Amino acid sequence: MAITHNLGFPRIGAKRELKFALEAYWNGKSSREDLQKIGTTLRERNWQAQDQLDWVPVGDFSFYDQVLDLSFTLGNIPERVRGFHGDTLDNYFRVARGRSNSEAEEHVHCCGGVAAGEMTKWFDTNYHYIVPEFERETQFKLDASRLLGQIREAQSLGVRAKPVIVGPVTYLAIGKSKDESDRLDLLPRLLDVYAELLNVLAKEGIEWVQIDEPILVTELDARWKHAFDVAYHQLKACPVKLLVASYFGSLGANAWLAANLPVAGLHIDAINSKDELQSFLDLVPSFKVISLGVINGRNVWKTDLNRTLDWLEPIAKKLGERLWLAPSCSLLHVPVDLASEQKLDPEVKSWLAFAVQKLEELQTLARALNHGRESVREALEQNGKAIVSRKNSKRVHNPDVQAALARVDASYGERKSGYTHRAAVQSAYLKLPKYPTTTIGSFPQTSGIRQARSRFKAGELDEAGYREAMHAEIAYGIREQEHLGLDVLVHGEAERNDMVEYFGEQLEGYAFSQFGWVQSYGSRCVKPPILFGDIQRPKAMTVEWIGYAQSLTKKPVKGMLTGPVTMLNWSFVRDDQPRADTCRQLALAIREEVLDLEKSGVKIIQIDEAALREGLPLRKSQWQAYLDWAVDAFRITANGVADETQIHTHMCYSEFNDILPAIARMDADVITIEASRSGMELLDAFEHFRYPNEIGPGVYDIHSPNIPTQESIVQRIRNAESKVPAERLWVNPDCGLKTRKWDEVIPALANLVAAAQELRKAS
Ligand code: GLN
Ligand code: ZN
Repeated sequence: MAITHNLGFPRIGAKRELKFALEAYWNGKSSREDLQKIGTTLRERNWQAQDQLDWVPVGDFSFYDQVLDLSFTLGNIPERVRGFHGDTLDNYFRVARGRSNSEAEEHVHCCGGVAAGEMTKWFDTNYHYIVPEFERETQFKLDASRLLGQIREAQSLGVRAKPVIVGPVTYLAIGKSKDESDRLDLLPRLLDVYAELLNVLAKEGIEWVQIDEPILVTELDARWKHAFDVAYHQLKACPVKLLVASYFGSLGANAWLAANLPVAGLHIDAINSKDELQSFLDLVPSFKVISLGVINGRNVWKTDLNRTLDWLEPIAKKLGERLWLAPSCSLLHVPVDLASEQKLDPEVKSWLAFAVQKLEELQTLARALNHGRESVREALEQNGKAIVSRKNSKRVHNPDVQAALARVDASYGERKSGYTHRAAVQSAYLKLPKYPTTTIGSFPQTSGIRQARSRFKAGELDEAGYREAMHAEIAYGIREQEHLGLDVLVHGEAERNDMVEYFGEQLEGYAFSQFGWVQSYGSRCVKPPILFGDIQRPKAMTVEWIGYAQSLTKKPVKGMLTGPVTMLNWSFVRDDQPRADTCRQLALAIREEVLDLEKSGVKIIQIDEAALREGLPLRKSQWQAYLDWAVDAFRITANGVADETQIHTHMCYSEFNDILPAIARMDADVITIEASRSGMELLDAFEHFRYPNEIGPGVYDIHSPNIPTQESIVQRIRNAESKVPAERLWVNPDCGLKTRKWDEVIPALANLVAAAQELRKAS
């Protein structure tokens, strides 16, 4: 009998109830009890949605982040919030976001305004966790109250509870040492607390504990491998059964290590390790439970159940009782329930599965294995129909797109001339001053913009009325920029709700959900568009807006586009062809827009690749392959233009050192990057690697409401000049100004322009 279980369930709620409850609490609009009550309701609802499973995850619910939860469970709380007033939950929010709610912060003089914990991506997902902080002296002290509370809650509801915690090796590996000490030195101390926790859980009557060690799918050196051995040899004395869970990829070179850990069970991501599955199963000692992640926990597509059974049946026969079935990873990374969707195209909807549907699939698979396919014939037939419909749909396969792709040859990715020649042509044509000033694209999202958009969506404003409202915003932005004396202007992106959704909505091959939200961090959720089919651009997407902006000024206005790699990395992407192929389709569609903009007289075109770095695979050995096709796609998009046309790209991060050659190969005439936070540190990379083209290192940290002074901007550019020749420097903010207010933006940009003028005078 195959056993079913789940690694984790989305905690935000089908209608983002957790988000609204958190924000109400933080804003002082609701009490801690109200918030706790919503937590209880959501957990209960989630367990109900999973009640068909043999083992149900408990402890996966979190008010902010499961890694931060664990830090509190282990008593690893930063010194800066110790001894603060209020409830533990308030301290928890202080570490998460710098502050709790207003009531808790009445003690501002003694315990307000702490630095929030650093946040970073959870492996290769778009979920962000709070980085554990370590020091040589870090001591751990168990506080199991949160986990125990949830376990008791589950048990009282009759839930077959399997607590979920992040494992000790992954916990150390994803944390940061604050004092250069070696965090592996903390392992013995840490293991004592883990052992204590497991003993406490055993006393609660817990049989199985899921202990997540996703670090197993990355490249581990000998010391970290050894840490695994040490950790699990010590924990094996605890009177609970451990299921060590790896996910987000195959075990690769760590297969032997994982297979031989002294634990009762192992979970592996069978979606991403099909090829290695058989050899892995051969490695695993015959007493261990093997949990196979057979439903993709990272995408929104229905599983091909019949095909899955084809390869699963022989394995099930061999493993018998030892086989467990689960999604590949926690369902945290997919939306909650497809049933909420009222507006999705029914054909596309029939191809999809969100968390609730994925668990139904799991149930069908288990029943088919345990009682024969006949017992779930109808479900399998329906699934088969959906799979065939998707495979054959004309909406997925567009022969025109295939034909256009077939025409792509090397010339698509090549500019007519090299940078040096282009720079000379562009400078004669654009006549920009030294240290040219510009911004990254968006201007403040005013309430006027938001109102016009929601009235337009609700049908209260017609298209002409909406366009008029957006034109007014554009006109305002152009006037302000002229007044400020910026050199290269932008139209301000008022018409865009989101840099990916805006383009997705105008491309064929994309669909949009109403409630397809996924937690990004804390109360922040994103709703990635669903890229289901061949990508085609029916008509120009931005030409009219840019044209209108240009008609208002003699200064050049940049055309603004989102690049193919960012479109790909911020969408739920089809799984029936390699991502590289999908990216090429996006590249071709956006290339058409680039060429249309050029034809309409636009001289400077910026193609944002904010998410290029995010797509990097977990294993470094696979980076180059990704960078190769990603950069190729960018080049297809950008490089069809004449020498006179200046191509910009923008990236919002500051870790460049390891991918600089790839960025140089994009061959954009100008790149603008985040730099102000790192105090131009990132430019160090440019000392060793001579970036050949122009650079605009962000000199204004747009994430902060602070107004940068003229001196600070001059200082930053002077700093940059020691690494990049002045002739190739631009002066611009870090990123788009969408989240700022005009009364912050105007003085900041005034200082930025004044700084550029001061630099010109001095040169
Ligand atoms: N052009 C976009 C903007 O200014 C870029 C946003 C981004 O890099 N994330 O909003
Ligand atoms: Zn940015």
